Parts: sequence; structure tokens; C-alpha cells
Amino acid sequence: MALPYCEKFGFDDDRIHQRLRWLDFSVEDHVLARRLQTEVIRPNIAAIVDDFYDWMEDIEEVQEMLSSGFDVDQLKITQTQYLRSLGMEFDTPEYFETRLRVGQAHAWIGLNLSLYNCAYYWLTQFIIARFPGNLRTDDDEGRQIEAFLHKIVCLDISLAIETYHVAQVTSLEETLARTQQQKDRLRVAASTDSLTGLANHDAIIAELELALGEVAQGDHTVALVMADLDHFKDVNDTYGHLAGDKVLMEVSRRLRAALRGLDRVGRYGGEEFLLILHNATPASMKNIAERVRKRATENPVKLPELSLKVTMSMGVTMIRAGESAEDAIARADAALYAAKKAGRDRIVVA
Ligand code: GH3
Ligand code: MG
Ligand code: MG
Repeated sequence: MALPYCEKFGFDDDRIHQRLRWLDFSVEDHVLARRLQTEVIRPNIAAIVDDFYDWMEDIEEVQEMLSSGFDVDQLKITQTQYLRSLGMEFDTPEYFETRLRVGQAHAWIGLNLSLYNCAYYWLTQFIIARFPGNLRTDDDEGRQIEAFLHKIVCLDISLAIETYHVAQVTSLEETLARTQQQKDRLRVAASTDSLTGLANHDAIIAELELALGEVAQGDHTVALVMADLDHFKDVNDTYGHLAGDKVLMEVSRRLRAALRGLDRVGRYGGEEFLLILHNATPASMKNIAERVRKRATENPVKLPELSLKVTMSMGVTMIRAGESAEDAIARADAALYAAKKAGRDRIVVA
């Protein structure tokens, strides 16, 4: 027989016997369990269930719950089954399985654990009230059965507590995971340019600061590129702003695709991009930038009704150890300006 609840809550044979040991259950208790059933519970089962539901009807919190679509007749049937099995074969995994399932069901519907605990007190009282006369007068036997009743109820409560804890921890873990996902999404959104999907201005500056730190440590070289689309205003003026947006998106995609793993590109502003080329050297930086520029502009950008040739100018410079981001950007910018002045569609090295 599959015991999914025992498995979920970790009740293997060892743990079952530990729990039985904690409550000092013994094989003699089976006799008491049978007597509790045959002499007390089963002859009075409908009355006990009715007493219990009469009590519950006076509890506001229970009423709220019941009025939210529970079928009381069905609940009474379940309660009857629960009572009929109370204590029977208490030392089997199957018993633990049914008790854990009951606890889990109550945890799921959100019944307060303390209220659950108090309900058990009353259930016990309603059972005791139905002890027949012979068990009342025969002190010793009556007391033994009553003691067993307290013990078996305590076992059931302890198993319910188990399921409540796990249900709560699980739901907390889920909440935590959701919060973390939201945080991650927010972080990505806050550092991403919404049009192009590239790192935005702040994010690429942050990357530049990191690169400056690595260069300052002296074990790393980095080149900085300021890239700007040529005559981009004309694209907007001639074909409209939406066409301009599409060009920016496509060029951004190509820039990103052209870069090597460690390198970074961000949208510095409008139609200007900042590229950070790790491990570039004074000898290699122009070639790397040229390769990226070629990939970004060699093919016309295809829009639904037209195909647009775009060109791009770049200013390139090595980052110097100890300098600020502003200084490095100013130098790349000056080189870009020189490229524009020299006729655009080219690279100038600072
Ligand atoms: P240059 O070759 O000197 O760089 O000329 P340019 O026309 O590219 O430069 P200018 O600075 O005159 O114009 C930049 C244009 O880029 C103007 C602005 O409307 C456009 N632009 C900036 N951001 C966006 C955007 O998000 N979408 C669109 N469609 N256009 C943009
Ligand atoms: Mg431009
Ligand atoms: Mg510009």
C-alpha cells in the first residue's frame, strides 16, 4: 500500500515507533482500543458527532469556515469514519497515514491549529460523557480506557501538528521563492533598456566602474568604445519614429551578438552605445571595434516596407589605470566626435 503522507512527512518505521514510545503505547493498548470502540464510541457515534457539531456551531471562526461552502452532512460522515477508526491498529503505518491525511486536510483549509487542538479537547469530553454506567462504576477499567483515549487523541494531535508545520514552512518557502523571483525581475528591469533590451545607461556605467577597478588592480586591460549611429535623425525624419525604433532594436541585437563573452554593451543614450572590451590591447582594440561595427552595419536593416542602410561611427580608447569613468568616457567621446568630423562611418582611436 502506498503511504504518500508518511513519506511526505518522514514517518518511516523508526519514526513511527519513536512517536509510539514517546506516548508509552504498548500491545495491551489494542485491547483498550477495541473496548473504547465497542463499548463507548460505536454505540454512541451519531450522538458524539452531533454533540461535536453542536459545539462547533457556537464557534464563530468555525461558522465562518463552514459557511464558505462546506457540506456539513458530508463533514459529519467524515467525522464518523474518523471516530470509528480512532485507536484501531494505532501502531501501523496505515494508521499514521490516515491521521496525517486528516491533519493535512485541516491545514489546507486553513483551520487554526489552536482551535483544532481545542476541538480535540471537546471531542474527548463528548466521548467520555458517553461512557456506559459499568465503566463509570468500575473505576479501574474505566480509567484505563479513558487514559487510552487521552493518549490516542494526543497521538492524533501530534501528527496534525506535524502536517501544519510542514504546510506552513512549505507555504513560506513558496512565498520566499516568489519574492526572490520578483526581486530578480525588478533588478533586471531596473538595469535593462526597455526598447533594446541592452544594459541601460546606469547599468553600463556600473559595468564600466567594475572594469575600471580591474584595470586599477593592474592585471587587466580594457578598451572603451563610444558608438553612435550616423545621421539617425534623418531616419526618424524620413521614415518615422517607429522605423527609427526598429533600427535601434536591430542594431542593438547585432551589437550584442557581435561581442565576445566578457564584453559588455549598453545603451548610453538615444542612438549612442557604450562598449566595454575586456582584454583588448592598444594593438587589438581597433580591430575588435571594427569587427563589431561591421557586424552591426554591414547588412541593411530590414523593415516591413523598406531596407535601410545604416552606418555607425566609433571612438575607441584604452582605459587608463586609476582614471575615472568620466575621463574615460570623455576621451572615447572626443574620438567619436573626431570620427564624425572626419566624415562618419569610421573609427577613430584616442
Ligand atoms: P550624427 O551622425 O551626427 O550622430 O547625426 P544624428 O542625426 O544621428 O544625431 P543627432 O544627435 O542629431 O540625432 C540623434 C537622433 O536620435 C535624434 C533622436 O530623435 C534620435 N533618437 C534618440 N533616441 C531615439 C529612440 O529611442 N527612438 C528613435 N526612433 N529615435 C531616437
Ligand atoms: Mg547619431
Ligand atoms: Mg548621438
